[in-house]
Amino acid sequence: MEPTRFVFGPVKSRRLGLSLGVDPLGPKICSFDCLYCEIGPTRIHTLQRRPYQPVSLIEQALRERLAETDLHFEVLTFAGSGEPTLHSDLGRLIETAKSLTDRPVCLLTNSSLLWDKKVRDEVARCDLILPSLDAGREETFRRLNRPVSGLGLALIVEGLCALREEFAGEIWLEVMLVGGVNDAPEEVEAIAGHVARIRPHRVQLNTVDRPPAYPVAKAVPLKRLEELARYFDPPAEVISHEALASRGGDRQPSVSEIISLLAHRPSPSEEIAAALSYDFKETLSLLETLVREKKIKTRVFKRRLYYYV
Ligand code: SF4
Repeated sequence: MEPTRFVFGPVKSRRLGLSLGVDPLGPKICSFDCLYCEIGPTRIHTLQRRPYQPVSLIEQALRERLAETDLHFEVLTFAGSGEPTLHSDLGRLIETAKSLTDRPVCLLTNSSLLWDKKVRDEVARCDLILPSLDAGREETFRRLNRPVSGLGLALIVEGLCALREEFAGEIWLEVMLVGGVNDAPEEVEAIAGHVARIRPHRVQLNTVDRPPAYPVAKAVPLKRLEELARYFDPPAEVISHEALASRGGDRQPSVSEIISLLAHRPSPSEEIAAALSYDFKETLSLLETLVREKKIKTRVFKRRLYYYV
């Protein structure tokens, strides 16, 4: 087995910045089979936690990748093809990642195992958790997320509430809205009711941006997403591709402007892009190059990566 398949990127993520991904699962293994999944239909539909891939090979791949001298990334993210908490050695893998890098360690999860205290204890070492919750009603949950049998929405909401009580880092909850499935006002009101109990640090509304697993999953237009964001208190952030593209600047980043800015004020990537009205992904690319060429440096402060001269 080729070890490097477990570590991918860095990819330029609008939510996280320059993200080095760790995929502990391989071919799609998930507790859900969401209509909108961009990876395709679920191959192994399960709630069983197992060492689906050998933990030593994943650790070896991570060690080798992180030892590369010209590697630059802002966060390390457990994600990939399926639901990462299904790997029974996730806790050990998070510990290993924390011992190998000073970058914030993040987790993308569909929230389906957070009711299990053992899983919550394993993920507690992360700096940031990005769970998802797409439905406020059981029937919609079944239709949209197509969970394994026996897994109910109430259990998922309880798990998210318990995580919020126990977890020391931030929780950014993603809500994926799909046209004609969960974008009616009463559906979004029901989701917002659960969110009021969960109290995540941020709520981020998204919609179908890439080819979905099932063609029935349609995008919700930006204007409607912005209206629905106001059902949450405080209003949710809209993070669809279209929303972020319309918000960001479109100037091409310039080396001299960035160095001049950083000489006055160390800044994270999104602040550099916003301050200079740059395209965010282009900014990440240039920052990556400048770090590699040793023209700028980085340091982590309060779980964020700052660039400085
Ligand atoms: S939870 Fe994520 S990986 Fe699993 S089916 Fe849904 S979108 Fe795909």
